[in-house]
Amino acid sequence: MWRASVITIFPETFPGPLGASLAGKARQNGIWDLQAVDLRDHATDRHRSVDDTPAGGGPGMVLRADVLARAIDAVAPDADDRPRLLTSPRGRPLTQARVAALAAGPGVVVVCGRFEGVDERVIAARNLEEVSIGDYVLSGGELAAMVLIDACVRLLPGVMGKEASGAEESFSDGLLEYPHYTRPQVFEGQDIPAVLVSGDHGRVAAWRRAEAERLTRERRPDLWAAFLAAGGAHVSGAMPKKTTDG
Ligand code: SAM
Repeated sequence: MWRASVITIFPETFPGPLGASLAGKARQNGIWDLQAVDLRDHATDRHRSVDDTPAGGGPGMVLRADVLARAIDAVAPDADDRPRLLTSPRGRPLTQARVAALAAGPGVVVVCGRFEGVDERVIAARNLEEVSIGDYVLSGGELAAMVLIDACVRLLPGVMGKEASGAEESFSDGLLEYPHYTRPQVFEGQDIPAVLVSGDHGRVAAWRRAEAERLTRERRPDLWAAFLAAGGAHVSGAMPKKTTDG
């Protein structure tokens, strides 16, 4: 079973959305499990303090290295080979490739930061991998942990209805996904593209691929450049126009 342990000062926020829909059902079915650990249970004073003022001064508070280390050691002793992640806007941006690698492993231990962040010494001492979910600042790591766990859980075998649905999604082959349509055939004067109702599977696949390439080129020049650098194959007819943004 894939196991997620989350260390947080707000354990009551879990499972939150992870208790609903695909992830919730998968947890009920024993495909994965979630443990939310209260960091305050690992404090040693009667106030259950987990933070203190920053060395060198400045605003806010910092999560203490000793309390966090005790919590990590209790949740994931040395024999536990799950990666230890720290949610952090400073971290390496989370990608679908990293999510897929995490989903293929035994699970994750996720530390949720709060306040100004965590004492730097525990990051090295407990080998924490800093992970960011985007270039913006959240109030705490709980939502980031949920995002990361949700992205992993939906890739676990047996979670998604159709095995194919993961393989064709955005990022799975370095491209954004093509557009989707469903009934009605005409919506406010707009038809479903004729190729999609032609019944010609080859043409449908070629159209989808061309649209995936177009959207990636237009919306995400960074992904498009990486796709080209990796030798991406083009079935859209013409090679993409050389643009200044790559
Ligand atoms: N002082 C920190 C900085 O400037 O980098 C921001 C701390 S933030 C208010 C509190 C916590 O929220 C962080 O320690 C981290 O755990 C979490 N967090 C905030 N933004 C995040 C992001 N983009 N990705 C992952 N975690 C984030």
